[in-house]
Amino acid sequence: MRPARIVSFFHFFIFLPILMAGQNQPVDSSLPPPPPHEKQIHLKHILVISQTKGFEHDSISDAMVAIYNLGRDSGLWDATLRTDTELITKKALERNAKNLNYFDALIFVSTTGELDLDDSQKADMMSFIKDDGKGFVGVHAALDTNYKWPEYGEMIGGWFDQHPWSTFNAPIINEDPSFPAVRHFPKAFVKFDEIYQPKEWSRDKVNVLLSLDPSRLDYANNPRIHRTDHDFAVAWDKMYGKGRVFYSTLGHTQEAWSDPDIRKMYFEAIKWVLGMTEGSTATHPRLQASADQH
Ligand SMILES: [Zn+2]
Repeated sequence: MRPARIVSFFHFFIFLPILMAGQNQPVDSSLPPPPPHEKQIHLKHILVISQTKGFEHDSISDAMVAIYNLGRDSGLWDATLRTDTELITKKALERNAKNLNYFDALIFVSTTGELDLDDSQKADMMSFIKDDGKGFVGVHAALDTNYKWPEYGEMIGGWFDQHPWSTFNAPIINEDPSFPAVRHFPKAFVKFDEIYQPKEWSRDKVNVLLSLDPSRLDYANNPRIHRTDHDFAVAWDKMYGKGRVFYSTLGHTQEAWSDPDIRKMYFEAIKWVLGMTEGSTATHPRLQASADQH
C-alpha cells in the first residue's frame, strides 16, 4: 500500500501546475460533470397543518401544494406539510421531527373541528406567535376550528358562523390597497368562492383588507345571515402579541388555488407574516361609500 501512496502523492505535485495553468481554459467535455449543487438554502421554514375533525375540503391538497410551490419557486421558504398536529409543540421530538422552534410561521389550511392539541401544545402554539413573534396564516376553514379554545379565536379574530350564500360570485371591496397581500386587487372585484360569516369578530380588533360589498348582496329569505351590521370581512390582518396574523376566507374551491390573484394574496400574506414586507395592522372604520348604500 505504501508505494502506491507515494506514487499518487508524487503525481499530485506533478499535475498541480498543469491543473492550475488550465484554470482559465474552456471546460474539457471529456471530464466528468461537476457534483450536483448543494441543497438550496431557504430563508424560512413553514409548517402547514390541515387536520380535519369536521368538514373536509377537497381543496386542501391544492392549497398545500400551492403553498409549498410558492416557497420553492421563490426560494423564500420550504414547507413541511402535515395533516396531524404532532409538530405543534416546543418539546424535543425524536426521529428527526422538527418542533415549533424550527419554524418561522404556521399555516392552518382549512382545519375543522377540535384539533388534536393538548394544553401544553396549545400553550406552545400561542407562545410561538405571541411571545416568539412568529407568523400565522389562516386559510378558509381555519376559522371553522378550535371552538373550545378561546385563545385561538382571539388570535385569529373570531370563528365561522355559516356561509350565507354558499359558493357564489362574491362582490368584494378592497379596503386597504396599501397592504402587500391585497395590493394587486382592484378597488372592487368579483371572485367565485365561499365567503364565511364570522362571529365573535369585530373590525375594531383587526385591519380589514377585503370585505363583501354590502350594497350588492342578496339578503332575502336567508336565515343564515346573522350579522345585522352586514359587515362580512373576506380577509384581515392583525397582531397577536409580537406575532403577525393573516386570515382570509378565500380558497374554498380547488380552482381558487390555480387563480393567480389568490395565489398572489397568500404568497404576499406569508411574506408579510414572516416580516419580509410591511403593512398596516391598524383598525379602520368601514368605507363610507359602501356603508351608506345598504
Ligand atoms: Zn368551504
